[in-house]
Amino acid sequence: MIQSLLIANRGEIACRIIRTARRLGIRTIAVYSDADADALHMRQADEAVHIGPSPARESYLVGERILAAARQTGAQAIHPGYGFLSENSAFAQSVIDAGLIWVGPNPASIDAMGLKDAAKTLMAAAGVPVTPGYMGADQNPDHLAAEAAKIGYPVLIKAVAGGGGKGMRLVESAEAFHDALASCQREAAASFGNDHVLIEKYILSPRHIEVQVFGDSHGNVVHLSERDCSLQRRHQKVIEEAPAPGMDEATRAALCASAVRAAKAVDYVGAGTIEFIADGSGALRADRIWFMEMNTRLQVEHPVTEEITGVDLVEWQLRVASGEPLPLAQEDLAIHGWAMEARLYAEDPAKGFLPSIGKLELLQFGESEGAGGRGRVDTGVFEGAEVSPFYDPMIAKVIAWGEDRDEARERLSDMLSDSAVWPVKTNASFLVKALDHPDFVAGTVDTGLIGRSSAALAQTPQPSCEVLEAAAAALVPDVPVSGFRLNAAPTRTAWFLLDDQEIEVALHPGGGGEAVEAVMIAEQGQAWRLSPWRREGVHGAAAGSGAIVSPMPGKVIAVDVEAGQTVTAGQKLLTLEAMKMEHTLTAPFAGIVAELKVSAGQQVQVEALLARIEAEAE
Ligand code: ADP
Ligand code: ADP
Ligand code: MG
Repeated sequence: MIQSLLIANRGEIACRIIRTARRLGIRTIAVYSDADADALHMRQADEAVHIGPSPARESYLVGERILAAARQTGAQAIHPGYGFLSENSAFAQSVIDAGLIWVGPNPASIDAMGLKDAAKTLMAAAGVPVTPGYMGADQNPDHLAAEAAKIGYPVLIKAVAGGGGKGMRLVESAEAFHDALASCQREAAASFGNDHVLIEKYILSPRHIEVQVFGDSHGNVVHLSERDCSLQRRHQKVIEEAPAPGMDEATRAALCASAVRAAKAVDYVGAGTIEFIADGSGALRADRIWFMEMNTRLQVEHPVTEEITGVDLVEWQLRVASGEPLPLAQEDLAIHGWAMEARLYAEDPAKGFLPSIGKLELLQFGESEGAGGRGRVDTGVFEGAEVSPFYDPMIAKVIAWGEDRDEARERLSDMLSDSAVWPVKTNASFLVKALDHPDFVAGTVDTGLIGRSSAALAQTPQPSCEVLEAAAAALVPDVPVSGFRLNAAPTRTAWFLLDDQEIEVALHPGGGGEAVEAVMIAEQGQAWRLSPWRREGVHGAAAGSGAIVSPMPGKVIAVDVEAGQTVTAGQKLLTLEAMKMEHTLTAPFAGIVAELKVSAGQQVQVEALLARIEAEAE
């Protein structure tokens, strides 16, 4: 067995690999960039080597730096994780040439499956059903258009070197073909350095179903059943589950046999995934499921397979790389129950899923409860860590297991609902809504579901009245009790700041305890900070006094006036930064700046006197 392992990756997958390696008594070595100098994966490993600046091109993607780190630490093997160098056959070869163990397939297998057209041609020859289409070398636009017409519209143009859902164009009719082709080729050349395309029949009501395969260096190949990854946004997986809804035993057997045939055709060693596209317009049928591509690495969604098979796929990878035979034969593998995974991202669905970077000041994951329930969170961050702009902004993979699909789905929904992340925005509430979508609940999923319901799914929820009122009571506990009635009507309302939004909340009497400055609210997978908003300071409700007080704790970032200066009503006085927002304080009436208590850069407490305006004598 391998004694020491360098993990050429970061984030949750590096942590995931370290976890198993440690259990097996293997010494672990992390690599990290500038941005990851304090990252979880480097903290968890036995040793860590700095490999360069933050951009991946200058660190995680530089093969020589990884190899130098392995030499320096005496690592015996390299695990590439997914993404980065995992499907780079030249890097795999250089690892082997350096006398190290590559935890992955042979470089030749990576190459055979590296380009989608060559892979499909090879698979067709091996008797694996492939998506109907054109995968020839002739890239003349008129020839491609003629092939598209032969296939019949709609068709999908795909970059042969594409990945991650990029480099694809759906074309509905012949008129649109040439423009779509040109734009696809441009994107392919820019993203993958290769503008070759293939053309496929666009499968209507498509379902993405993939099979986990595993080979060893003794010629054995097994499958670990299928996963359904049909819940996608822009051809990228969002929620994955295993097994696939509506899969009967005969179809499963035929599909998995195809996958094993595919892996054997490229002498596959290690963990791999054969992706298929299925016609989901009716019941699943073996003759309506076609090979799409093979991913020659561990997949992001591998945990759902682990949860229903009880196999630790990373352990198998390490055993196979050490030369051991597969731990189990096909007849010893079985599936039990149902597992579902959601990719929790630092992104803002309300802003077109823009990545939301910054410090994770609050980071809590919901726990799966209930009899026999199992919840799992694979993450690469911790409370206080930064989501940097340099890498994939995935915060965690949240995984739930249940006896059946409904149980797994409800548990996952609960775990996400009970998560709280702040001030970074996440897609948690989007995921909860997707999991609760009637079509998903019914198991009638296809890859277009999210696109069709995107407006409803992306809407940001607001906290409920009950939760807001309870939080307000904690902020203003000294509301006088009016009589002795239970459920008494609110005595008064007050203004609060919900993150940066001003809201009015009813105050109920009877809240005890000490007043606090702010409270966190978490509901429906969303988190907010509620704090008192002293409107007087800003809007001059206490105009009579002319006192400009700080509406909340913060920092003065600009002072626009001087003591003694004459100001007009509404003139900008100073700017306060609080909770990552800027707030402008203005003069309530015309007069002179009688007092100026602060300067730029100063921290101020709530209700601190900042300045005082005095009306000029007539
Ligand atoms: P999967 O089916 O496993 O999602 P994809 O082909 O979509 O496979 O992408 C591979 C995975 O690698 C993605 O999930 C993505 O998170 C990760 N990945 C892709 N590019 C990068 C990168 N530059 N850095 C880190 N991870 C990456
Ligand atoms: P990538 O390398 O980007 O993962 P894939 O070939 O695996 O590319 O396709 C990504 C996704 O695009 C699939 O999961 C599926 O949703 C969709 N897709 C691919 N091929 C087809 C097709 N022929 N018909 C319908 N949808 C398809
Ligand atoms: Mg794919």
